[in-house]
Formats: sequence, C-alpha cells, structure tokens
Amino acid sequence: MFSDRKQLRIPGPTPVPHKVLAAGAGPMANHRGPDFKSQLANILERLKPVFQTENTIIGLTGSGTSAMEAAVANLINPNDSVLVLSGGVFGDRWAQICRAFQADVHVLEYPWGEGIAPEAAADYLRRHSHIKAVFATHNESSTGVLNDIAGIGAAIADFDCLYIVDAVSSLGGVDLKTDEWGIDVVCTASQKCLMAPPGLAFISISNRAKERMKAVSSPRFYLDLQSYLEMLERSETPYTPNISHFYALEEALNIIEAEGLEQIFSRHLLMRDMVRAGISALGLPLLVADQWASPTVTAVKPDFDDVSGFVASLRDDFGVELAGGQGRLAGRVFRIGHMGYATPLDMLTTLAAIETKLGRFGQATAAAEQVWLQTVGG
Ligand SMILES: *Cc1c(COP(=O)(O)O)cnc(C)c1O
Repeated sequence: MFSDRKQLRIPGPTPVPHKVLAAGAGPMANHRGPDFKSQLANILERLKPVFQTENTIIGLTGSGTSAMEAAVANLINPNDSVLVLSGGVFGDRWAQICRAFQADVHVLEYPWGEGIAPEAAADYLRRHSHIKAVFATHNESSTGVLNDIAGIGAAIADFDCLYIVDAVSSLGGVDLKTDEWGIDVVCTASQKCLMAPPGLAFISISNRAKERMKAVSSPRFYLDLQSYLEMLERSETPYTPNISHFYALEEALNIIEAEGLEQIFSRHLLMRDMVRAGISALGLPLLVADQWASPTVTAVKPDFDDVSGFVASLRDDFGVELAGGQGRLAGRVFRIGHMGYATPLDMLTTLAAIETKLGRFGQATAAAEQVWLQTVGG
C-alpha cells in the first residue's frame, strides 16, 4: 500500500500537513541575519496565544524531553525537595530527571488510568512545607489521562512553590490556560498537537521562575536558559537552531490560527468521543473513565492475549499504526493517537480497521458516526 497513506495513529510523532512539510524544505538562512531573526521572534510571539500566556517562550532544538530537562536543570538545586505527581510513564520521567539532578524527590503516585485529585497535591504540600516545586503532566500519554491542571493550580496557589507542567501531548490541542491557571513553566514539543516534525521543544517561563533561576547552580550548558533569555533580547538563540523546523512550525501556526483554538479544542473532543463510542460499541474496555479521558490519545485494554500481535496486524494488514502500551502497561493496552492533524474521518478509518480485524463489521463505526452526526447537528 502507499507508504504515505498510512494512518499514523500514535501519540506522537503525528501526521504533518503537506504545506508544513513543504515549508520545512525552504533554503537555509543565516540564523543571525535579519530575516531569520525576525522570523524567529515572530514565531515565538505567535506561540504565546497557543500557550495562553504573556510569559517568555524559549525555543530549544531537541525533543520534548529537552524542555523537561531544561526546566529541572534551571530551576532545581541539588537537594531541593520537589513533588512529582505521577500516574504514568511521563510523570515518572519528571521524577527520573529530578533524581538525575540530585533533587530530593517526593512522588505522589496515583493509579495508572486515573487523574490526580488536586486536593491530594495540596494536602501533600501542607504536610511537607519545604517543597520548592510541583511537577505535573497535563496529558499522560501512556494512559490517556487528562489531568485537572486548573484544579491543581488552584489547590497549590497559596504555597510558595513553582508549578511546572508537561504539556507535550496537549498544548495546541487541548485547552491549557497557562497564566490563568498559575503555571510557571509549560513544556511542549513540535511533533504532537503542533503538527510539525519532531526536533523543536518550547518552554514558557514566568517571572517568578526567572527569579528562581538566578539562584540555581545545577550544572548545565546547552540547556542553560539564562543564555537563551539573553540571546532572545537580540532575537537569536545561543546555538544554531533547527531552522527547517522553524519554517515548518511557522506554516503549522498559519493552519492553527486559521482553524482557531476553540475549534481545534472541540475537534479533539469530538475525536475523543467518537473513538470512545466506537471502542465501547465493540465491548472493548477503555482504560480511562470519562472523567479523565484524554482528547488526544485513547488507551484500550482488551481482554485478548496478544495485544502486540493485534497492533502489528493492524499495521501490516490494514495500514493503521497504533501504539502499544508503555512501562507497566506494555503488552496490555493499545493506544489510539488523535492529536494534531487528525479529523473525525480519520477516526472512522481507524475504527473501521479495528472492527474489520475483529470481524465486527460496522459496529464501531456506526457508534462513532452517531456521535459525529449529533455533534455537527444533523
Ligand atoms: C511525547 C511526550 C513527551 C516528550 O517526549 P520526546 O520523545 O522527548 O519528545 C513528554 N511528555 C509527554 C506527555 C509526551 O506525550
């Protein structure tokens, strides 16, 4: 089958629109020349409404984890006590990075497949007054849980600690009000909801975090955000940026602005609801209850033995690429990515492959189509 017509339905990297790919093929520029400097400044400015922030946004050449590491390296001293809220692989990643930087790491673990109760975070802080930062995951891609980042922000607002959020698999697809919800640092990456190739990461930093940064001595060089902030005054990056990916992202921002954030958010909610209706109609258990269900990725926990074989067969026989499970869910779930450049029709295609494979012709798609029709008002 056509290799470029595969349904790439994993939680990142995600499909990239043709115009974005084409923009990425533009000629190289002098990254310290006037043209690229104004382009860079413009792109970072246009990201602010997507982050829903007035805070400074820094662009890094790296994957999403580079932004996460930058947050820790620049804001956490060795022996600082930090609280990590973890309910999956990416929550655990915060803890791993904090340990690598020799922080005193407290992990408040919640069950994989559930979100954290905001009050639990506040309770923890009440009992541990020395915590300097709280790390959370907006959309836990390993389970398909969307955490209540607004609620956590409100619950911990009275404590003197930084609020640092991994929004890699949500920003640009799911509502995230950085400033209104009191988030000091938001990390994201180019290859998820932002519809660009992997290779750029972005991090927004509040004034409070900028102040904290000055008192942090953890070793860092490439990811020293102070040097990015200084160079940003001149609309430059300290080191050669991934120029092609900035071209691509600029085009992706055109597409995002043309659709509008509100419409983007409701499209993701619709895709979530279609997938969940379709999977439920097949009698396959969803890992996550409605309350926590992610708009960008859905995890299914089927009762058949060979989940990996099922995923492989969907890829090889039907051209639909799903993700398996990660960490302790490896081999036990499959995940359907529905973020970024994805449409309701893509959900029908994906569900069609799944129901065909299971010999349950028309069942999942019928349920999803009903959700679709109700939403478009037919
Ligand atoms: C994809 C992802 C990341 C970053 O992973 P990279 O491979 O470093 O880009 C971080 N957090 C979440 C929730 C993710 O989905």
